[in-house]
Amino acid sequence: MPPSNASVPPTTDSPPRFHAVTSRHLDDLTARAGLSPDQRLGVRAVAEVLPFRANSHVVDELIDWSAAPDDPIYRLVFPQEDMLPAEDVARIADLLRSGAPRRQIQTIAHQVRMRLNPHPAGQLELNHPVVDGRQLAGIQHKYRETLLFFPRQGQTCHAYCTYCFRWAQFVGEPELRMAADSDELVLVDYLRAHPDITNVLFTGGDSMIPSAAVLRRYVEPLLALDQIESIRLGTKALSFWPRKFLTDPDAEDLLRLFEEVVAAGKNLALMAHFSHPRELEPPVVAQAVARLRGTGAVIRTQAPLIRSINDDPRVWESMWRAQVRLGMIPYYMFVERDTGPVDYFAVPLARAYDIFRDAYASVSGLARTVRGPSMSATAGKVCVDGVVDLLGQKVFALHMIQARDPALVGRPFYAAYDPAAIWLADLKPAFADRFPFDADDAAEESL
Ligand SMILES: *Cc1c(COP(=O)(O)O)cnc(C)c1O
Repeated sequence: MPPSNASVPPTTDSPPRFHAVTSRHLDDLTARAGLSPDQRLGVRAVAEVLPFRANSHVVDELIDWSAAPDDPIYRLVFPQEDMLPAEDVARIADLLRSGAPRRQIQTIAHQVRMRLNPHPAGQLELNHPVVDGRQLAGIQHKYRETLLFFPRQGQTCHAYCTYCFRWAQFVGEPELRMAADSDELVLVDYLRAHPDITNVLFTGGDSMIPSAAVLRRYVEPLLALDQIESIRLGTKALSFWPRKFLTDPDAEDLLRLFEEVVAAGKNLALMAHFSHPRELEPPVVAQAVARLRGTGAVIRTQAPLIRSINDDPRVWESMWRAQVRLGMIPYYMFVERDTGPVDYFAVPLARAYDIFRDAYASVSGLARTVRGPSMSATAGKVCVDGVVDLLGQKVFALHMIQARDPALVGRPFYAAYDPAAIWLADLKPAFADRFPFDADDAAEESL
């Protein structure tokens, strides 16, 4: 029995419009997933700490409710009771049960969040340039050639992934946000002053949240800059709200903007986040991809490897194949960051490598554009290339795909094998007393 129509817009002949599903609908939907009243309260308690947001497309077209709560797409967006320490969940559940004041619940939720490493790799502090004594919170000069830009209007998504490494941005805690206070003029000024930057990556949040008109304000000025080769837009809209590119009121204007970028001689790259092959199944996805490709845009795909959602080589194989079939280009498999409910989602590096290799070996060369498993750390992207026996020692072979210091890119290095390691911080250098990027960090800290 569908317990609620909360997420389902009335049927009309007009195209479906975006309807957010929020924590107000959580109890009805967890009932639909077959959870007991106590379990539902536990989920509500978790949702006081971690963000929850879904929408009608996710609820009605992606989730297999007959398989919930084990369904991977259900797990992709719905908080789970065991994502947080049991005593924290019990404490908040008690408060909810007794009708405690909001303020009291929020205070406890805040304390729990602070224990979840809300800023992995110095998200808030690092790489934000200071110009005229003011830190530009909306800009991260990530790598020599790559600038990240966080549009003020884009600090949300069409739905939230439970594993999101930017989760802290979405919970309404002002001190956890990367207040994106930089406007389009600051962006252009900064680029003019840094001619090495050839790539601007719009991220956040989902870059497809701002309207086409707002996006145009940021993108158009970049077209006049000769140094800019690529404009990248980080988005999960193709998965969570593909109608953004088809029937939303600004769809035409958005596609026209992409055409203009291409006509200006720049690469418009949509960095599409797909976590599971199911997300590619609704026919509107193929339609949206076709329209996007019709503008000359290139779609590259990426996702983290997440326990209980996509930690199976067959899932990645099938996802990469479906993407190639639609004309998309597999780009990255990420290792889940060390933030939020990390114990819940983490896949050990050794297993991540096995999954990557197994999937990679199963697809044609056209899907082997993908790289990974890759850790996005402060110093750059570290890729696990394999496990080898060298000089009688079992080690991880690694290399940097990206580095703040370009001299470190592409040079092999090693770490002692540890089957339980889930992140760079768990690794110890092998055949050396430090990792190549450690010097880089030390130099940075001494500045
Ligand atoms: C991967 C990544 C980028 C882009 O790096 P490329 O290797 O050029 O695609 C930018 N920012 C972050 C945080 C990243 O993880």
